Amino acid sequence: MEKITLRKANAPIWLPVALVCAVLVVGGLLVTSIYLNLRSQSVGDQEQLLLALARSAASNLENYLGSYQKDFSVIKASSDFQRGIKTYQESGDDTLLLEYLDTYNYATEDYVADILLTDQEGNLLTGTKRYGPYEVISSPTGDLAVAQSSRGRLYLAISTPVNQYYRLYSMVDVAYMYDDTAAFMDIGELGYVAYKHSDGLVLTHPRHDLVGEDAIQGRRELYPDFYLDEVAALVEEQKTGGEGICTYRSYWWDERDPRLITKICAYTPARIGSEPDDFIIVTAVADYDEIMAPLNRGVFSIGAVMVVMMICFCLLAIQLYNTIQGKSRVERENSYLRELNSTLEEMRRSEEKLQHFQRLEIIGTLTGGIAHELGNLLTPIMAYSAMMADELSGREELYDEAQEIYSAAVKAKEVIQQITDISRKDRETAFRDLDLSETVEAALKMAFSAKPKAVSMEWDLALEGRHMLGSDTQLCQVVLNLCTNAFHAVKDREDGRLTVKGQILPGDRAQIAFTDNGTGIQPHNLERIFDPFFTTKRTGEGTGLGLSIVQSIMESHQGSVSVESQPGEGTTFTLILPVGSARTSPEPPKAGEDRRVLLLEEDPRMARMLAGALQREGYQVESFTRSQEAMNYLRQNKGVALFICSYPMSHGEGRLATLLARNTQPGVRILVTTGFVDRELVENSRKGVIDGFLVKPVQLPELLEKIRQLFSP
Ligand code: ADP
Repeated sequence: MEKITLRKANAPIWLPVALVCAVLVVGGLLVTSIYLNLRSQSVGDQEQLLLALARSAASNLENYLGSYQKDFSVIKASSDFQRGIKTYQESGDDTLLLEYLDTYNYATEDYVADILLTDQEGNLLTGTKRYGPYEVISSPTGDLAVAQSSRGRLYLAISTPVNQYYRLYSMVDVAYMYDDTAAFMDIGELGYVAYKHSDGLVLTHPRHDLVGEDAIQGRRELYPDFYLDEVAALVEEQKTGGEGICTYRSYWWDERDPRLITKICAYTPARIGSEPDDFIIVTAVADYDEIMAPLNRGVFSIGAVMVVMMICFCLLAIQLYNTIQGKSRVERENSYLRELNSTLEEMRRSEEKLQHFQRLEIIGTLTGGIAHELGNLLTPIMAYSAMMADELSGREELYDEAQEIYSAAVKAKEVIQQITDISRKDRETAFRDLDLSETVEAALKMAFSAKPKAVSMEWDLALEGRHMLGSDTQLCQVVLNLCTNAFHAVKDREDGRLTVKGQILPGDRAQIAFTDNGTGIQPHNLERIFDPFFTTKRTGEGTGLGLSIVQSIMESHQGSVSVESQPGEGTTFTLILPVGSARTSPEPPKAGEDRRVLLLEEDPRMARMLAGALQREGYQVESFTRSQEAMNYLRQNKGVALFICSYPMSHGEGRLATLLARNTQPGVRILVTTGFVDRELVENSRKGVIDGFLVKPVQLPELLEKIRQLFSP
């Protein structure tokens, strides 16, 4: 048994890989874009939050210090204070004044460390002496200075002029002030709010040794190798008294081993006095990474979920791909097996058909030969029996016997004539224009006169005015054969009946149906009734040639005969014939339309027969019996519409000729007539190398129908 090899599945493996890559790229881009979006949004939100905190701390500070400034007005308006000042101014005795200031200072507890009186240049004249002495460490400004006590504690010196000679100072403890205005503000783990004097002096800071130092200079001294450019630029900006937000690189100074990180700082001034430089820079500082941490964690979670989803998706895609692959492989296998099956079936059918035709051909040849020989033998029998009858005319008994010999010989001659009719190929030459209705009616009348009395017969032909090219003798024979069979089938019935009905079908075809209510035909006989010599009749009653002749005549008239039968109920034989409408167009329509046909057939008889038939159909036929000549013709000429090639050709050149035709004749249809069907032929037909094939012996109607199909759009 032939081994079935399946074509390798040409599965595009790059497809799932590309799909997975595309998903990864798209997923990556999506996550990145979401992340960037969220980050910028989050940074923006945090910056606004920091600025709000800085503003809130600045506002607290302004209120806090504002209350001490208000106290100045109360002090200056107090008559005790005025008296004290007056006494001091006149006598230098500060007892009264200090008494008053002590009382006030006591009321403000620790927040105002001391209240001092200076001259207009700031030289200390007198005052409470709880925490002093103080040293001014900030650059001199209008109403706001920074002083440091001998114990290193920082104080804000808020001042107000008392009169043209003196200024009054409240020494506000910076640490307490910070506790009350900003220490409680929470900016993450690392963030903080801090104050600087408008000249850059650090007032509060998580790193304590920076307190009291210049914001830049102090750091430069503490961290000589550190990168401080961005911090310095920020401090310079803050010293101008503006408000702003800045992302910059700096350090967490209170760490043991500070490293360069990114910070976000919002700053705003808290205005305390009346001069332009009278402000404290309030900064809210946060760690960029700390702010981003929740976002990063969120995005990481989303990313992780997306990765898991993508992995699931990829697994699903791979699974789907495998399923589709498996399915298409099964489909391919199935279709291949189906194809193989139908090829084998086609081969089996064509072999059967071939065997059938071969059998018929052998029978035809044999019977043709026998008929010829018998015909020759019958001639002297008929002649001598006639002569004997003549000579024995006086002797009645012998005369009858001679006459019997003569009648039997005449009957035998008729049978032989029928056999010869089947194999005769030149029926067409006797064709002429016929009125179908007249021809058939004449034959029916003839049959009517010969019918058994008990049988009823009627006809309705509705074929008036329809003409065709044909032989009236042969058509008459068809009608008589069918009627004779019907009479035979109904002969045992009392109500035996034959009905003949004619009608015109679409496409200019005449249909004549012969229906009887006779014995019917057994299903197993139906296939064989058109075979020559098939008969169910008793010896002497039938030859088995009637239907074979009917079929042969119908084919030569481009028509057909078919049968339907119910055993015990009856049979209908249906004839189909092509018809024209008027006597003026007796020729059947030609299908050739002047198409050029190249015919390559090694058998000269067959070539002549096919060429003749095609020419009658209007084709221009170039006929060759040698493939070399046909190939030369193909090389030198164009415009071949149809190439009919016999297969196999000796030397296998038929195949070359078909290829040459395909290459040199654009749009050519290739039809192969073949002695046998093999795998290659079926494959070539399927692949379109050839357009079709017919199994020999080629029947003309079959050939013409096939050609018509090839050229039908
Ligand atoms: P023959 O009539 O000599 O037998 P045919 O070729 O005319 O040869 O018919 C072949 C066979 O077909 C007949 O023997 C018969 O069995 C069957 N047959 C033909 N016509 C009919 C019919 N009208 N009803 C029943 N059987 C029929």
